[in-house]
Amino acid sequence: MSQLSTAVRRNLSLITLVALIAVISLGNVAPAKALASWPIVRKGDQGPNVKTIQYLLIHRGYSLTADGIFGSATESAVKSFQSSQGLTADGIVGPNTWSKLVVTVDYGYQGNHVRALQVQLVKHGYNLTVDGIYGNITYNAVLDFKNKHYLGGGGTVGATTWQELTGSGNGSSGGYALPIPKSTLPRSEYDDPHHDYPAIDLPTNTGTPAYAMKSGTVSYVGGGCGYGILISADDGASYKYCHLNSRSVASGARVSTGQLIGYTGNTGNSTGPHLHLEVNYNGLRCPQNMLLAIYDGTSVPHPSTLPTSGCTY
Ligand SMILES: [Zn+2]
Repeated sequence: MSQLSTAVRRNLSLITLVALIAVISLGNVAPAKALASWPIVRKGDQGPNVKTIQYLLIHRGYSLTADGIFGSATESAVKSFQSSQGLTADGIVGPNTWSKLVVTVDYGYQGNHVRALQVQLVKHGYNLTVDGIYGNITYNAVLDFKNKHYLGGGGTVGATTWQELTGSGNGSSGGYALPIPKSTLPRSEYDDPHHDYPAIDLPTNTGTPAYAMKSGTVSYVGGGCGYGILISADDGASYKYCHLNSRSVASGARVSTGQLIGYTGNTGNSTGPHLHLEVNYNGLRCPQNMLLAIYDGTSVPHPSTLPTSGCTY
């Protein structure tokens, strides 16, 4: 008995040692991570990616307002740009158009191409002013972003960094954005059921950026929700965010899809840091399918089509 248990113990030690070596070896290698896909942005879309496209077009001499709304004027400018580059002039900004549209920016640069970059950095939660000046604050944000995404090349923002900036972040799809950076949680967290009633709890460290899933108007929520935000959205639904650590937008403010609205936390009736999220359209809906579609970049179901039960335990 004692001999057997010694043998078992020796084997376990060996397994532990092998596992430990494996972990150490893996630790020395940068994790293989697929680069984010360029987003598809078209007429009707709103948010930071639209604003970045507009600033890049302005940089190239097009006369536009960078309002983050992809309307007729932006579509015309995109078509004109596509023609000038020998691309199909369909007005839709996909991989081919993005590749031609982005320009390399670096420390010391000034202009609308820098504004295009700064809009993306703000989208990813960096606290900076979109002033078109690539100074130290922008430089530090670029370095931090590239470090987190295993990108080299110092402060230079070339095509690869642009792709990672525009393509991941809040995981925008079809006019919707994930409520937190896509890199925060694996896909499997977005199909979890909620206790008692339709909603979802996303386990996030305090200080994780929270984004508007849909453009709309902000109001504040308190009580058990803690520092909470309700977005009365342009799709007729409302989106409630609870337990935030801080709010970055004023009550009554208009926000665009993907805009930073605050940072997640543990305020109100909460047993640990997480983001509690509710989607309401004539009553609470199960947000899981919607979140998964945004995560996957597939067609996003309208909130009115989401189930009102079946996502609770
Ligand atoms: Zn909850």
